[in-house]
Amino acid sequence: MAKKGDASRDMAIESRVLHIPPLQELADTIAGGLQDNYAESSCTVVDCPDLSKDPYGLAAPGLCGKTRLVDVGGVPYLCPVSQYMERVYDLENVSNQVNLPGCFILGAGAGSKHAVGVNCEMMPNIRCAGGQHERQNLVHISKVIPEDGSHVLEAYESQHNDITEFVLLANLFCSEGKLGKVLHVRAKCRKGDKDLVECMKGAIRKHYGPNRAVGMGGTFLVKQGSIKIHVMPDFSETPLTCDEEVTDWLKFYEVSAPFVCLSTFITEDLGLDLRVTHTHGYNKAGGTGGHYHTDVTPEEIEYVGYFVPAESVYRLDRPSLSNLIGRPESQGH
Ligand SMILES: [Zn+2]
Repeated sequence: MAKKGDASRDMAIESRVLHIPPLQELADTIAGGLQDNYAESSCTVVDCPDLSKDPYGLAAPGLCGKTRLVDVGGVPYLCPVSQYMERVYDLENVSNQVNLPGCFILGAGAGSKHAVGVNCEMMPNIRCAGGQHERQNLVHISKVIPEDGSHVLEAYESQHNDITEFVLLANLFCSEGKLGKVLHVRAKCRKGDKDLVECMKGAIRKHYGPNRAVGMGGTFLVKQGSIKIHVMPDFSETPLTCDEEVTDWLKFYEVSAPFVCLSTFITEDLGLDLRVTHTHGYNKAGGTGGHYHTDVTPEEIEYVGYFVPAESVYRLDRPSLSNLIGRPESQGH
């Protein structure tokens, strides 16, 4: 078996500047998209409330300041065959790799099998150490219990020695975690066929087109209703060669509000082989967490969230051999 990779090894780092629309224009654009998909909705520019408080519980008060998306590794390291031994990363290292030591990070990724003992979903939510900041590690993972097919939520800080390691892939939003102007999104009672993130992304992409790539990061609360999530079980013993095999391998669950999501998306691939949307979330009190798909109760669903545009996107350790297995959201672009 291969030797475990060093998370601080040299790896390829690429970056692109993104289009930052005026916030009010972006709010109006998103509001139009939400209106087509939800019976009641709005998107407005507001002062960011303190998101470190309940129900959001982020590791920083705000989303603002030197905002950037970071796409680390990729699904080609997971499928067809997992390369988790070699593809090891660390959130503290990422903060340095994107020149933002001490930053706040949220998003979606794969937790470390090396530390947790099994493949798992990671919900990154951390204030890294650096500058005047001490680390505040609120990262959680969700793993499948093979005996009964259920899943459990665990904390990196208290249950896994305060590690910041992850493997294979992550889609992250980094910022200084400051308060400032943000977009406040509300959506209730779905009448269209899109999930919340796809709806926002579609509206932005339609407005700004392929030559003005817009990237976004933020958090939203499932306030009412139920959603579908998945949790990756341990790595498949047989190669996963198509979307159908990936779907058969994943474990799906329905979970009810309240559920806090950590979300990133970008309207264009930019030739960087990106995962263009990725959202994970959890309910700490309910002990549940995983990868967000969409709601399963269109009439009851209610979301409230906060988002900001990212100034740039970083691509770390991009796979040299790519495929689109397990990335249905990237197909058709
Ligand atoms: Zn995921």
